[in-house]
Amino acid sequence: MCTSGHGSADGASVAAPAVDRGAPGPAADAALIADLVIANRILFREGVVDAFGHVSVRHDKRPDRFLMARNMAPALVTEQDIVEFGDDGEPVNAAGRPVYLERFIHSEIFRARPDVMAVVHSHSMAVLPFGLVRSVPFRAVTHMGSFIGTCAPVFEIRDVVGDDNDLLITNRKLGRALAECLGQGTVCLMRGHGSTAVGNSVKQAVFRAVYTEQNARVLSEASRLGPVEGLSEAETRTATRVIDGQVNRAWDMWRMRAEGKV
Ligand SMILES: [Zn+2]
Repeated sequence: MCTSGHGSADGASVAAPAVDRGAPGPAADAALIADLVIANRILFREGVVDAFGHVSVRHDKRPDRFLMARNMAPALVTEQDIVEFGDDGEPVNAAGRPVYLERFIHSEIFRARPDVMAVVHSHSMAVLPFGLVRSVPFRAVTHMGSFIGTCAPVFEIRDVVGDDNDLLITNRKLGRALAECLGQGTVCLMRGHGSTAVGNSVKQAVFRAVYTEQNARVLSEASRLGPVEGLSEAETRTATRVIDGQVNRAWDMWRMRAEGKV
């Protein structure tokens, strides 16, 4: 069994109604926004998100800010639905439109990890069991899932706010604790809730979210057959280097599929 992450215990806060703070920065690159929109569609089409879940990308001209859709089902997101957020997780230009309750997942990971350019949070079904069974670590068992490493951390919300919680990351304190649990990793599981994957681009984050789900399915199936031989630590590192160069190939196909062209 591997060690679960623990959150910080400072400064409780309460989820507040989203009110625009600050002024919008320079317009983000149109291609970045377009990729974010298609990322939403891909994640739905590939079974990572349903009506819930979200994807964000760091603002290309204001690295202290990020972009994410307003509160809505990912499959329906258009460019007009993209909102800019500050590093406190609050919107800059929502103009009264509801925003995701769990936006603090994104804001606090972006704050803690300058290398992270995109974040995907989902409740994808195959991953969920590994957040529940503490004796079975979630680890890479396929080369495509090598970025997961030999033991993904599991976030335990009770360690942060005790038993009286709704399992959601609805404030900065919880977001910070989740970011601490993720550490320098690529994927963090959240008990009874879902998982969060990060990447150095929106394409890589989507790639990792999709293959986290696939790796979970393979690991579950293999576990029915007998003891599982996962990737070694060296294999996870080497395979990740190779697979990272293949992200565009998957993205291009997923994009066409999300657009109904293949
Ligand atoms: Zn969630």
